[in-house]
Amino acid sequence: MNKKSKDLKDSSFGTKAIHAGFHHDTTTGAVMPPVYLTSTYAQTSPGVPVGSYEYSRTANPTRDVLQATLAALENGKYGLCFSSGCAAFNTLLQTLKPNDHVIISDDVYGGTLRLLQKVFAQWGIRYTQCDMTNVSQFQESYTEQTKLIWLETPSNPLLKIIDIATISEINKKQKQNVLVAVDNTFATPYLQNPLDLGADIVCHSTTKYIGGHSDIIGGALIVNDKALAEQLYFLQNATGAVPSPMDCFLLIRSIKTLHVRMQAHCSNAMHIAEYLSSHAKIKKVIYPGLNTHPQHALAKKQMRNFGGMISVVMTGNQVNAISFLQKLRIFTLAESLGGVESLIEHPALMTHAAIPADHRQKIGIEESMVRISVGIEDVKDLMDDLDQALR
Ligand SMILES: *Cc1c(COP(=O)(O)O)cnc(C)c1O
Repeated sequence: MNKKSKDLKDSSFGTKAIHAGFHHDTTTGAVMPPVYLTSTYAQTSPGVPVGSYEYSRTANPTRDVLQATLAALENGKYGLCFSSGCAAFNTLLQTLKPNDHVIISDDVYGGTLRLLQKVFAQWGIRYTQCDMTNVSQFQESYTEQTKLIWLETPSNPLLKIIDIATISEINKKQKQNVLVAVDNTFATPYLQNPLDLGADIVCHSTTKYIGGHSDIIGGALIVNDKALAEQLYFLQNATGAVPSPMDCFLLIRSIKTLHVRMQAHCSNAMHIAEYLSSHAKIKKVIYPGLNTHPQHALAKKQMRNFGGMISVVMTGNQVNAISFLQKLRIFTLAESLGGVESLIEHPALMTHAAIPADHRQKIGIEESMVRISVGIEDVKDLMDDLDQALR
């Protein structure tokens, strides 16, 4: 069984990433947690299980290690893992009741918007989208029924930075009991800890940087409040979107290098953002680490570094952007992000194609915009590849 590491609350990130959920197996000494590929667990008498487990939808020891690790990295008390990021958000929304209202930031992940628009709207959950970098617009979005604030920072694909502390502070002054949830997928716990900034819930698509190798679909919620955690554990079991023990194991393995990977992503992204900023074929580079970014100062305050995502508006039109994408040799033209390999995509034709063109235009997703997930290859090779494709 799992010998937990002693309290690592004061340890730094890398130590927690490697040791927080598991130290070693007390029966064999194994330094990696076993993959408990079992659906059920023996009982010694009806209702008296051998250990604390009964059935793997409810709980599984490998999943417990992952949940404890993620909670530790987000400085939270309770972690819950799901079979996808959407399943995590879905479970959170199931805490709401008909007529409840959600405020969400305006360029949220498309799948998040789709859940509200096409699934939960049928059950009477209403929502308002607003630009949360604009505090008065945010304050005007509250209704008597507001129960949840949902924000993503940095946002996708415009990499807007929302002030988590300010939003949480404004929210606490409301008399209603409204929770603030932050989708921390782009930043990861290595760069930003929303619970420390006043948020109530952190959400992850572990498919992205936490998984880091483009081979898993997964999600997570991390909270501090015991009653909320119990409600979410109930829903996790009752609705059943749990990850497999093997996926949990792979995520535990991935997390051990999260800090090293993130340092490389950030460093490569900074080099590439600077390089592209001075390129004649590039109209605009959006990267929170550049001082041309409108919320650069806030990013510096709120995040420990600026992440691996860059959005770029090219000169010319959509045809020029497509031709550039097709000439790249190392960057893979693909949706998703956060893996060790560099990916590039065209938001208007790919990840954000479901957003009506006029709304895309209005919020700034231009037809010649490409989004880059900078990987951890050697940066010189990445720059050479961009250079030849821009020629
Ligand atoms: C990918 C993603 C999601 C959805 O996660 P899945 O694991 O694909 O279900 C949610 N939010 C953000 C910011 C994402 O990038």
